[in-house]
Amino acid sequence: MAPAHPLRPLAVGNWKMHGLKAALVEAKRVCDSLRTASFAVGVEAMICPPATLIDALAREARDTRLLVGGQDCHAKAWGAHTGDIAAEMLKDAGASAVIVGHSERRSGHGERDGDVKAKAAAAHRAGLLAIVCIGETEGERRAGRALEVVGRQLAGSLPDSIDAGDTAVAYEPVWAIGTGMTATAEAIAEVHGFLRQALLDAFGRAGESVRILYGGSVKPDNVSGLMAVANVNGALIGGASLKSEDFLAIIAAMAPRG
Ligand code: PGA
Repeated sequence: MAPAHPLRPLAVGNWKMHGLKAALVEAKRVCDSLRTASFAVGVEAMICPPATLIDALAREARDTRLLVGGQDCHAKAWGAHTGDIAAEMLKDAGASAVIVGHSERRSGHGERDGDVKAKAAAAHRAGLLAIVCIGETEGERRAGRALEVVGRQLAGSLPDSIDAGDTAVAYEPVWAIGTGMTATAEAIAEVHGFLRQALLDAFGRAGESVRILYGGSVKPDNVSGLMAVANVNGALIGGASLKSEDFLAIIAAMAPRG
């Protein structure tokens, strides 16, 4: 996919394992608002629902500004992998992106950097935007190892080459996910600046077009402050993306002013 940005802010709602068909009402409200709201022009908004809802949500979102993504994919295109979903299948169902390497996949399913790298490559193979998640634990930050950890994760989780616009990185401190805690602006600026430099070193010009999202307890009342931090090009939003009102308030706050 070739998003219409030079670093146009990207708001990604990660519904995680929340949402029966009835929850599509919330997504429909988002679609309806994005149709008419002036702020919608300056932001790319996406919802990553459970896989069972991708097809229905993609139908709902057709001809609207809302993009649809998956939450995980298998590295292979097909095969004997019971319960898994190929990136090609997500694309076929209407997704234009997929989150890979979320900390809940890393901790709950033992995914390592090499697995995440293979999944990101699979996303590219299928023509999907790969949203690659990295982030340190609380213990690692306390030990002063945050940059070392995210640097290693970034190097190990991204494919060997990327094209302009086919990759986003989500920095999500593990201790900030679902806890109501966010990293300080100084800490985020330090990590995002470090990641930007690492992307430029590794990929040259293509590294310039990688949006670096912040994630972890992003809410309507803190998103403006987070987006004001240098090298924050969007947000990955869990809990607050489940309610259309909150998600729309976040998208509106992310729209560039003036
Ligand atoms: P949260 O989740 O916004 O509920 O903290 C973010 C995420 O895990 O992507």
